[in-house]
Amino acid sequence: MEEKMKNWNALWNSVVQQVKMLLPTEIERNRMDRYFPLMHSPRLEENCYVIEVGEQIQVEMFAKLYSQLILESLQSCGQSVDEVKFIVSKDLSAQQQQPAKFQRTTPVTPQRGMPSTMPMHENYTFENFVKGPSNSFAHAAATAVAKGPGRTSYNPLFIYGGTGLGKTHLMEAIGHYVLDRHPEMSVCYITSETFLNEYVNALQNDAMHAFRERYRKVDLLLLDDVQFIAGKQQIQEEFFNTFNSLLGLRKQVVMTSDVAPKDLKGCEERLTGRFQQGMVVEIESPSYETRLAILKSKALAGQHLIPDDILKFIAENIRSHVRAIEGALNRVVTFVDLNHDIPLTLDIAQHLLKDSIEEEKTIKDLTVDEIMRTVALAYGVKMEDILSKERTQTLVTPRQVAMFLSCKLTTRSLQEIGRSFGKTHATVYHGAQTIQKRIDVESELQKTVENITSQLGRNPSELTK
Ligand code: ADP
Ligand code: MG
Repeated sequence: MEEKMKNWNALWNSVVQQVKMLLPTEIERNRMDRYFPLMHSPRLEENCYVIEVGEQIQVEMFAKLYSQLILESLQSCGQSVDEVKFIVSKDLSAQQQQPAKFQRTTPVTPQRGMPSTMPMHENYTFENFVKGPSNSFAHAAATAVAKGPGRTSYNPLFIYGGTGLGKTHLMEAIGHYVLDRHPEMSVCYITSETFLNEYVNALQNDAMHAFRERYRKVDLLLLDDVQFIAGKQQIQEEFFNTFNSLLGLRKQVVMTSDVAPKDLKGCEERLTGRFQQGMVVEIESPSYETRLAILKSKALAGQHLIPDDILKFIAENIRSHVRAIEGALNRVVTFVDLNHDIPLTLDIAQHLLKDSIEEEKTIKDLTVDEIMRTVALAYGVKMEDILSKERTQTLVTPRQVAMFLSCKLTTRSLQEIGRSFGKTHATVYHGAQTIQKRIDVESELQKTVENITSQLGRNPSELTK
């Protein structure tokens, strides 16, 4: 019986991870963090996966939002399930809102009190954050802020980077650190979406004064995903005011965003200017070594014995972001938990991660079109010129550079690349070879090609492979 519970537990954890990966936006993932703790006792009954909730309204809402995604996740874990059913449990109705037993990230509320704050993940701490070259600046700045909130020149601290790279983790780590040492301080963690909703509610209910007062009492404001505010003109004024009065009182503000302040579209300049007055740090995609270190740390934390070669395999193949890496590890862990008698081999891991690896390829793969456009821009010529038959040197070079980069940076065949250029595969081959020979002797050209490669978000070292 206990063994069975443990297996359900492992399966559920895997489902949670996978559903999270299937959700395309941060907002949907945040919503999931609020809803999934309301789901209980997930189990398989015949071919039906049953999940208990506390109220009928949750049955309808969760079925609409998550049934299909949960079903797909279960099937990809090799379970023969053809239905996901939410049912109301009497016990739960009585003691509504208890955190789910099987949730790995049991949320905790940082502080009861005036400013509304959202639950933080209890495991998003500095101890659980793996440092590496991709995040060392961000980590150092976050640590400094946590040690002396409002007392460093890092105010505001603005952390930006792609999705799933650890922004929320690092921001919440500051929150945990401060609350552990200064329980008297008022810490507010809130997503910009919720901040915006509260603002609109306050406006409609004539409660702006209370809204302002609430936020101005905060000692540490952790505002997640500020890119959400960017397009919303009407809130920027209020945000600017709240922001200024907090900074004026030497209260600490930390923000995250998926782009740098200057790239926040639809954001007033005085606001982005203000964001940059403190410290702006970027989190980049982790290197192979960091990915491996994260995997080792996560495996250790969960007490999973996964062979080194499997961890290396994951680190080599899943490169885009940490959330995807966690998802991959979780799949492997689920397999081990469910199949005690089958040793985990590289072959099995390869099979389990087939879909994720395919997906990585599509994320990483550039299109020939993107390459042509970037090359044209760098050389100050038009896209049509690159595609034309014109053979002047000012056009032949960019055209051949685009061919060269298409060969190096995409997985497309010479034929396919040829088709995109309206040329034969032999022409593409010849063009790419010409550039290869020229960059060996022309350092100017080499520089240009390397710059374009960086602009395309790729590492120039790939050109030498
Ligand atoms: P973001 O907010 O940038 O989208 P998150 O902070 O939600 O990303 O991170 C996604 C997942 O990856 C989380 O589970 C987080 O714990 C994990 N993670 C990211 N970076 C690290 C790291 N350096 N060390 C350990 N875990 C990490
Ligand atoms: Mg986040």
